[in-house]
Amino acid sequence: MSLSPADLSAISVEPLPRLLAEAERLTLEGHGRILSYSRKIFIPLTKLCRDVCHYCTFAERPQRGRRAFLTEAEVLAIARAGAAAGCHEALFTLGDKPELRYAAAADELAALGHPTTLSYLAAMCRLVRDETGLLPHANPGVMSADDVALLRSVSVSQGLMLESAAARLCQPGGVHHGSPDKQPALRLATIAAAGALHVPFTSGILIGIGETRAERIDALLALRDLHERHDHLQEIIVQNFRAKPGTRRADAQEPDFDELLWTIAMTRFAFGPAMNIQAPPNLSPELYPRLIEAGLNDWGGISPVTIDHVNPEAP
Ligand code: SF4
Repeated sequence: MSLSPADLSAISVEPLPRLLAEAERLTLEGHGRILSYSRKIFIPLTKLCRDVCHYCTFAERPQRGRRAFLTEAEVLAIARAGAAAGCHEALFTLGDKPELRYAAAADELAALGHPTTLSYLAAMCRLVRDETGLLPHANPGVMSADDVALLRSVSVSQGLMLESAAARLCQPGGVHHGSPDKQPALRLATIAAAGALHVPFTSGILIGIGETRAERIDALLALRDLHERHDHLQEIIVQNFRAKPGTRRADAQEPDFDELLWTIAMTRFAFGPAMNIQAPPNLSPELYPRLIEAGLNDWGGISPVTIDHVNPEAP
């Protein structure tokens, strides 16, 4: 059984070794000694994005002579390489609605015969599914209920990181200032729309971006509320902020490893034994086996073919 908000708050101040022992007990209860992962390929359909998150190295600006979107042939080439390497999943991760910010993106979409990035994404999911048999998972940012429904017809699952439920991070000085799609209410609405449409969904939080521990718990509880209503969250990701050169947060302090362990354990307590809990192993390369102690039972998507385009410094 998952803990009440008051119980979560009480347990959060326990010493870390005690938290980890209890989290590991719950994980073993729910998953035994099995650790899962998804053998996948990563298709970055576009790296243009209308948002400007202060830690992001994925998003790029339009460049003359360079296409904004992968072509059909490029998408298929990646997918076929994945299928040949025994992958099962095609993870489409991309920038959020770049056509609303960049004329180059809107023009290229029009030339491709699509009014929006979401429309082109749906076509590419269908293509990959029909031509390679890989299972598309779509991760395109904030979506309307109609967008979710469109993608539902051509994918097996969808995802959107909540990242944080703290709207103050969108204020001046916050990491999400200038990123309209990072308003927590909008992201929660997308996750709720997916629930109402019975779409298996992935979400999670990003730690170390200026939020407090209490705000992390708030974000987990907001996700849990939606899951209790719709039973659609298939995994919760706990991702740790990494300071990357060339970003506005290049010199910001990264969360220490114990913070990550604490947050994974709190996620296990919030969601109980059955939930799949992930953290990216490539973002804690020396220490990642210890994440299992904290409550992790799933490594998420791991590719024998493509790099982690969101974290290219840890491919
Ligand atoms: S983190 Fe995502 S939404 Fe934010 S700028 Fe990067 S690609 Fe866009």
